[in-house]
Amino acid sequence: MRLFQIMALSSAAISLGRAGIPVADTIVCLEGWGIARAGVLPLAKRQAASILSTAGIRIDWCEASSTGCPAQQGAIVIRVRFEGRTPEEYRTGALAEAFPYMPAGGAIKILYDRVASIAPRSHDKQAIILGHILAHEVTHVLQMSDGHSETGVMKAHWNADDYMAMLWKPLEFESGQAARIQQGLAARLGAAAR
Ligand SMILES: [Zn+2]
Repeated sequence: MRLFQIMALSSAAISLGRAGIPVADTIVCLEGWGIARAGVLPLAKRQAASILSTAGIRIDWCEASSTGCPAQQGAIVIRVRFEGRTPEEYRTGALAEAFPYMPAGGAIKILYDRVASIAPRSHDKQAIILGHILAHEVTHVLQMSDGHSETGVMKAHWNADDYMAMLWKPLEFESGQAARIQQGLAARLGAAAR
């Protein structure tokens, strides 16, 4: 049931462009995703797309080739790199990091070994947490900001209650976040068009 709801939300966020081809504002290009456990990534992608759709953002996914991530006219391409061996002393407690001030699409690093360690025995939980992390970091990049909110998707550090809550219902954006995402996206798309 839960999966069906996520899928329904996700597909509703996609609109059709000319020739019936889906169009998205934001392409999220995944690098090194092969280290994710089987079944985790598809659910995480649906979860992230569903959360971002509540802020009016349509995302599409692609996988990086040997030459990197493709440029796409009319869309922001955000690179997401999966890392599997994070040194213990590296940014203690961090699960991911975004570089929102980079030109073009900005970039994100997922410290996947740490994400997996939160829910090592449940691929579903891992996927839901990863989906929230993707939505959080993509938001940083689209807003071109490292700002956080007190609660919800953009909280700086989720606690045990937050992890429990997101298993039942996706965390939400605080009011004002969606407008900031849209402003940042418009600025990035404007810069890309120049
Ligand atoms: Zn953050």
